[in-house]
Amino acid sequence: TPVSEAAEAQVAIDVDRVSKIFPGEDAVRALDDVSVGIRRNEFFTLLGPSGCGKTTLLRIIAGFEPPTMGALRLDGTDISRLAPDQRPINTVFQNYALFPHMSVARNIGFGLEMLGKPKREVNETVDRMLKLVQMEALKSRKTSALSGGQQQRVALARALAPHPRVLLLDEPLSALDLKLRKEMQIELKRLQSETGITFIFVTHDQEEALTMSDRIAVMRDGRILQIGSPRDIYQRPAERFVANFIGESNFLDATLSAGHVTLKAGGGAFAVTAPPGVADGPVSVLVRPEHAAVRAGSPAGDELPATIRNVVYSGDATTIHLELGSGELFKAKMSNSTGGGATLPSQGEPAVVTIAPGAVTVLKD
Ligand code: ATP
Repeated sequence: TPVSEAAEAQVAIDVDRVSKIFPGEDAVRALDDVSVGIRRNEFFTLLGPSGCGKTTLLRIIAGFEPPTMGALRLDGTDISRLAPDQRPINTVFQNYALFPHMSVARNIGFGLEMLGKPKREVNETVDRMLKLVQMEALKSRKTSALSGGQQQRVALARALAPHPRVLLLDEPLSALDLKLRKEMQIELKRLQSETGITFIFVTHDQEEALTMSDRIAVMRDGRILQIGSPRDIYQRPAERFVANFIGESNFLDATLSAGHVTLKAGGGAFAVTAPPGVADGPVSVLVRPEHAAVRAGSPAGDELPATIRNVVYSGDATTIHLELGSGELFKAKMSNSTGGGATLPSQGEPAVVTIAPGAVTVLKD
């Protein structure tokens, strides 16, 4: 179709059926037939639990590690045999790897000097980079005398200075405290859109992935389970693992029949779009806690009967833990700005749950 051709034309990094096996007595299949097209000017995130293969995929793209099978293309050209320094790709490492005794400015310019760029061009680029990461005031300071967040900025500036086509970032914010990390998340996203460089970002932090990414690939055991926008991944997870890994989830038993599901817990029929390959019959469905509302009283119409187990106040919202009529446990999260949690019945009292239309997602397993 024309749409997929257009998407094809935008692909910067094309990972084509890549597998990686680390040989040895207990050989590890770190990547298992991974394919993904990462687009130009995209903030793309590899997300998954520890050991799922994120870093291995990044190292293969950078050229530090050869794939066991499969091909790697940049703008349509096979780059799998190029050495790392021959690829227009740069990496920002978790530990920054700065030169501690050099000034901020020299750290940023060093790579350009090594490439034999004229001094004037180096200085101009360094000044531009200092401005981009807002480190002009500290340009003469040694990097060993910088805070973690400042070192992070220098590492970014240094990696961006030669204007690579692709920037790889391996958990670059993990050493920062929470507040600084949140600031740098916004900062990284700004740097990406201002430079127009394709960013491939590795994290195991789902919130970080949702905040920054244009698209996310969720990985597990060396495979990509789903690729989509943060919205897609959050609202339409294909599998239970993805739903569970991102955001809070209720998994309920249900029956699928002709485009509708009925929950074991009651509540009428919900119109759904089942993922391909899921047949009518018993299914597992996802309901996000914020898509359910709770009130005191007995059920009318399509409401679900429930008993309140616990009510947890968390400032902006109240989470209500319930037991449904089916015996299944359920969490509802109501915003306090709408007065949600204020008039709830207390523990042990009967209540009813309403699930928003369109909020029921059928899962593949
Ligand atoms: P983390 O979030 O913990 O960094 P990850 O998703 O980046 O994890 P990888 O580092 O890519 O995961 O590792 C994937 C698998 O490959 C793991 O089982 C790991 O032990 C294994 N592995 C990685 N590098 C090597 C190596 N050089 N030799 C053998 N096994 C390796």
